[in-house]
Amino acid sequence: IIKDLSDLEKREVLGHGNGGTVYKVYHTKTCSFYALKVLRLNGIRQPVEAEILKRVDSPYIVKCHAVFDSGNSNNDGDKGGDISFVMEYMEGGSLNDVLRQHRILSEKVISVLARRVLEGLGYLHGMNIVHRDIKPSNLLINGKGEVKIADFGVSHVVEGRFEGNENDAGTCAYMSPERIDPERWGGENADEFSGDVWSMGVVMLECLLGYFPLIGAGQRPDWATLMCAICFGEKLEMPEKASPEFQNFVRRCLEKNWRKRATVLELLHHPFVS
Ligand code: ATP
Ligand code: MG
Repeated sequence: IIKDLSDLEKREVLGHGNGGTVYKVYHTKTCSFYALKVLRLNGIRQPVEAEILKRVDSPYIVKCHAVFDSGNSNNDGDKGGDISFVMEYMEGGSLNDVLRQHRILSEKVISVLARRVLEGLGYLHGMNIVHRDIKPSNLLINGKGEVKIADFGVSHVVEGRFEGNENDAGTCAYMSPERIDPERWGGENADEFSGDVWSMGVVMLECLLGYFPLIGAGQRPDWATLMCAICFGEKLEMPEKASPEFQNFVRRCLEKNWRKRATVLELLHHPFVS
């Protein structure tokens, strides 16, 4: 439907990220809104994101309608151009916005959320795609209140074996022990998919607790504190009133040993989401 970038009018900034900016745009020909993510082409990050976005098509993944390579768009001696993704506009914002507004969510809401994220991850993993950056700001909500997975900026297509230590990718707070400390937690051989399950578990627990769960409420951790909490933290703080189903679900996601951690397929049959 979208043939030309010039048919899109920028209306507002929806978010700033690592490599670019996301705008709310108006498509004059169809009189409808889209989200436009514009990235500076300066590394290897963008082509992977573009490749993945072109391949995926699922109700659980934010849809990308078109990709435009705007080539060399400035004259300041900078070689890279821009790449633009025209995506479905998710008017509910991100789960991060929702959490900031409501602080906590009910188990009922979280179970619907978890189910959809699992369906999305199941789809991606089935295509050998690891998301690697599941966190509240990458889970977006549309006008119907449906959550979808977004942002393939650090995703990876698994071909053969694990490609070793890539600790710099993704956001460390939601990263699994085997990605943070591969030596201790057997990350060299980890199938990368289990890292997405860990991150999802952190997010779901955060939704119930109202704060980042691996460290105490109100703390602003540095990287070392965070790393210790993820790799060595013994007890998992669980809200007292959490149902046994929820508790078990989260424990199965936050199993430090990735070999014992539940897979997406197992979790899709878990009582908490079924
Ligand atoms: P980060 O590095 O922080 O993860 P990023 O550069 O990879 O960000 P995105 O995560 O894709 O970019 O988008 C940044 C923010 O823009 C999101 O958290 C969300 O608030 C907003 N946003 C992105 N895509 C959409 C969309 N399709 N509809 C509505 N808002 C969006
Ligand atoms: Mg993001």
